[in-house]
Order: sequence, then structure tokens, then C-alpha cells
Amino acid sequence: MTKTKVNWQAIASELEGIETTDNRDRLTKLSLDYYHFSPILFEQLQDKRGDLAVFPTTEAEVVRVAKICVKHRVSLTVRGAGTGNYGQCIPLKGGVILDVSKMNRVVWLQPGIACVQPGVKMAAFDKQARAIGWELRMAPSTYRTATIGGFIGGGSVGMGSINYGQISDRGNLRRVRLVTLEDEPKVMELEGDEVKKVLHAYGTTGIITELKIPLAPAYPWQEVIVVFDEFMSAAKFGQALSDSSGIVKKLVSIHAAPITAYFTSLQDYLPQGKHCVLLMVSEYDYAPFTDLVREYDGEITYSKTAAEASKSTSLLEYTWNHTTLLARKVDPNLTYLQTFYFTLERVEKAYAKAGDEVMLHLEFLQAGGKAVPAALQLIRYTTEDRLNEIIRDREADGAFIANPHVYTIEDGGNKQIDLEKVAFKQKVDPYGLLNPGKMRGYAIEQKSKVKS
Ligand code: FAD
Repeated sequence: MTKTKVNWQAIASELEGIETTDNRDRLTKLSLDYYHFSPILFEQLQDKRGDLAVFPTTEAEVVRVAKICVKHRVSLTVRGAGTGNYGQCIPLKGGVILDVSKMNRVVWLQPGIACVQPGVKMAAFDKQARAIGWELRMAPSTYRTATIGGFIGGGSVGMGSINYGQISDRGNLRRVRLVTLEDEPKVMELEGDEVKKVLHAYGTTGIITELKIPLAPAYPWQEVIVVFDEFMSAAKFGQALSDSSGIVKKLVSIHAAPITAYFTSLQDYLPQGKHCVLLMVSEYDYAPFTDLVREYDGEITYSKTAAEASKSTSLLEYTWNHTTLLARKVDPNLTYLQTFYFTLERVEKAYAKAGDEVMLHLEFLQAGGKAVPAALQLIRYTTEDRLNEIIRDREADGAFIANPHVYTIEDGGNKQIDLEKVAFKQKVDPYGLLNPGKMRGYAIEQKSKVKS
């Protein structure tokens, strides 16, 4: 295909009335995410940049942007808050960055369910929902900054997953409205199982403009740290708490001793050499919770009521992938692996072989009707070959690795081409303009017609 130069100034003029920027520094910020947690992705993606960023405020403006991108056959990559870890919103082929942060209205909110625009920030939403006794079912540790649309498009689990599993579990997203990239862009609604077509699709199957999400009853969450002499005692306690149906909780996060040293502002509560469990438990269930701590010989070193916790940094920001963030602040050579161990037997085996190279960090969540340990274990990075060797070794032991060192949907957690998603993309994005390069199945099916 002959390449024709794109006239970005002309495109910006056609978008008159919608805020745009071609400022190089802003484009750099708006093109990147937290891909640098992976030394492999860092090498591959550091120089990728969009050409023009656009900030629509309404669905009608999104349709206008879509139409102009189709007319000029330029790619379009949607961006929420840009906190993804695998370069999900990094535009591999440049083009338009469509930033949805100004579409941040809660459309309606009722007990148990809400309808929101994609750019609504999760913590800001919860503030409103909690006023009527409800909250998000789950949220990543980037809760304060991440958008609801970005979590649907690129996230998977977080606090609350101990009760509600993964965002992709049936029921956790009820309806989406999206804009297509056809010659005449359409607004579509997907309901029921159809929503899977946009879940964790990295914005390759439409621009989400509205979401209907179910909520969870809100509790006052007590934030607690419990420490243990033995790592496996901490892990077993985590499993027992996760299995305790009578104790309402939202976060069960376990950290092997070397990791606690990276939590610099919690050092007063983390005796050297001890392993810790970071928790959110309903204040109403604190008494039976302390009985369980006693049964497992744990020691509570930190306990804040919801009101007290709201005045300091939440323990959430030491868990999930915030653990990696904090560890990398101390030692930038650290990276991580997302692993489903599923059983404590596998965790024990992994702990025994961790040595100095791997540090175990577990998060409990619901999967297939059971509470299971997943891990965001920290790795002292040496080479890509060695990282792949660790992956193969854990897989041989029966663990499932959702590889965070790849940027396509299929090579990370999904592991296989989702033919339904590919077919849907062909329909809604016939020119392959949406976040090109991220859906491997589509690239195989259709040679891209994108200009660069
Ligand atoms: P972005 O990064 O902006 O976008 C994510 C993907 O969704 C992109 O592919 C984008 O194109 C697409 N997208 C965004 N908006 C739309 C839209 N309107 N329509 C279509 N597609 C869209 N993730 C977890 O799941 N759990 C965690 O606990 C967690 N912890 C993290 C901790 C740290 C320190 C960091 C850096 C990341 C963490 N993440 C975690 C990853 C990330 O923060 C979350 O997945 C978050 O929900 C992404 O939201 P965002 O608004 O930043 O999305």
C-alpha cells in the first residue's frame, strides 16, 4: 500500500468545537501508560506516540471523531486515565488518541445499579454511591485515578474480587453503549453475554460511551495489618479468612517478608523478617475476625476504623499492582508476574523455590465459586530468557500465568484468539483503525489498511 502523509492540522480543523492538542509534551504523556513495569515492553513501546489527542465531552462528539478518523483512515486509540500495565492505550501506529476523561458524568444511580459515562473515576463514583449505601463491586488499586471505562477495557480484578471475582465474570457488567468505526459510525448497545465483546478488548472493538454496572452493598471497611512468623501461616490465614462466609471482607493481600521492606511508610507496623497480611474487613465483623487471627497465631499491628482510614493512605495502595509500584521505587530492576496458583499446595511449592529471585505476593479472589490465591510475585529481572524460564517452570507446576510482558490481548491472560471478538471487530471496525496491533487474531484475519 502506498503511504500518503496525513495532514493532522486539517484533521484538527475538521474537529473544530472539540478540544484537541498536538503539543509534543502532552502527546508524550497521553501516549504512554505504566508499560515500564515490564523491561521487555519498555524496550518495545517507549518511542510510540499519537499524533493528535482529542477530548470529546459527549457521545455525539465521539461519533464526529470516529467519522473523521474513518474518512482519513487514521487509527484511533481510546484512553481513560492511562494507568494500564501492558501498553493497552499506547498507540502503536500513532494516530488519534481519544481521551474520555471529560465524559465523566454519573448518568443515574439507584440502589444496586448505576449508569455512568466511561471517564468517571472509580473513587469519585464510590463517594456518590456510598451516600446511598452502595459501592463498586470491585476496583483496581489505582481506584483513585482509574476510570470505569478503562477498567472494563483493560483491567481485570482488584479489591472486592474476593467477593465478586473478575470483571469478566458474568453479571459484573450489564450493558454498554459504544460507537463503531464504520463509514457511518453507529451507536450500539450490548447487553447480557454480548458485553464480553468489549470486556478487556483494549478498545479494539468500539469506543464505550456509557456503562450500566451492578453495585455491592457498602460497609465501613476496617483496615488491618496482621503479621506472622511463617509465610505459609500468613497464606493459610488468608485462605481461612477468604473461606469464612460469616466475616465480610473486601481485600486479602499477603506479602512475604522481603516485600514488607518496600512499604517504607508502614515500617512501624512491619517488624523485620515477619510476613504480613493487609486487609479490609467489615467493622461489624471485627470481633469474629480477631478470633480467627488468634487461631492462626497472627499479631495485629495496625487497625483503623473506616473513619480513621479515610484520613490516611488506604492499605489498598500497598496491594495488587501497587506492591510492584512501591517495590520498583526502591529497586527499579524489579518486575512482576501475574500468576494464578489456585491452591496453597502450589503456593508452598513456589515459595520453597523462590530463593532470592522471586518474592511472593498473593491476592485472594473468587474463581469458579471458590476463594483462590492469585499472585503478583516480584521478580529480580535479569534477562528475558530467564523470565520465560520462570514462567515455564511455574506453568509446569500447574499455575496459570497472565503474562504482563506482552501487549496483545491474546498473549496476556486470554491465551487464545477469541473468534467472536475478532468477528465483532471486523463488523464494527472494518478498516482496522481501533488500537491497531493489539488484537493478534484480527491482524491474522485482515491485513491492516491503516496509514502511518
Ligand atoms: P486506560 O489505561 O486508560 O485504558 C485501559 C484500556 O482500556 C486501553 O486499552 C484503552 O484503550 C481501553 N479503554 C479505555 N477507555 C475506553 C473506552 N471508553 N472505550 C473503549 N476502550 C477504552 N488493574 C487491575 O485490574 N487490578 C489492579 O489491582 C490494578 N492495579 C494497578 C496498580 C498500579 C500501580 C498500576 C500502574 C496499574 C494497575 N492496574 C490494575 C492496571 C490499571 O490501573 C487498571 O486496569 C485500570 O482500571 C485502568 O483504567 P484506566 O482508566 O487507567 O484505563
